[in-house]
Amino acid sequence: MAASDTFACPSSADGAEPVVCERFDALGFDGKHARLGIMGGTFDPIHVGHLACAEQVRDVFELDGVVFMPAGDPWMKRGRGVSDAEERFAMVKAAVADNPRFDASRLEIDRAGATYTVDTLRALRAHYPDNVELYFISGADAVQHILEWRDAAELSRLARLVAVTRPGYELGDARRRYMRTHAAIRDVSVIEVTALAVSSTDLREKVRSGRSVRYLVPPVVADYIETHGLYREDA
Ligand code: ATP
Ligand code: MG
Repeated sequence: MAASDTFACPSSADGAEPVVCERFDALGFDGKHARLGIMGGTFDPIHVGHLACAEQVRDVFELDGVVFMPAGDPWMKRGRGVSDAEERFAMVKAAVADNPRFDASRLEIDRAGATYTVDTLRALRAHYPDNVELYFISGADAVQHILEWRDAAELSRLARLVAVTRPGYELGDARRRYMRTHAAIRDVSVIEVTALAVSSTDLREKVRSGRSVRYLVPPVVADYIETHGLYREDA
């Protein structure tokens, strides 16, 4: 694309609220090819498993950045009392602050009602020019659900789907089963990441029973959990 074909990023005006996130809103608006990863999740709380996966996928696909997208109202987790979206967002923002290739987005938490990944990817696709490729990253457990969704074929048109391995979850079978029945979907890239058998469920349980989560979450997240009294029996 010639320089004269580039167009202004909608949120780059002084004082404007970011559309996607502060660090990557202008990505691709210079007309250069760029790759952006999106890591969706509840992040209740964000932990080293999320961060290490995102970093390894970023490295493998040479992504310009990864945006972590905390879910506003995760419909599949209703009834389990997910922590306040602002608290989950604050922990994600703090966890990625020291990495210029990572950022956190308020897109889903600022949207009213349930969170659907397809709506998020449509919003990202509408924001970024065509020279920005989107990579939607999810773990072996989450990708199985995604592949069963009604919108799976559209999802795979909007973004390249990247599934990362996760201890305790088998990727192969669900993927093969799915491929047989849904020819419309583009292939899912499977990336073997260093196994870290950490989960937010386990971390919440640890905090609840007074055990340490040090080294399983970034220090700023451990501090946040303690200062705000998250996940405690009486919280
Ligand atoms: P919870 O136990 O509350 O479900 P979680 O640890 O699974 O929490 P989520 O916020 O549900 O974290 O996950 C966000 C994304 O990160 C999902 O795609 C999930 O598969 C992936 N993920 C989470 N932990 C790991 C891990 N240790 N290894 C690989 N992928 C992971
Ligand atoms: Mg999960």
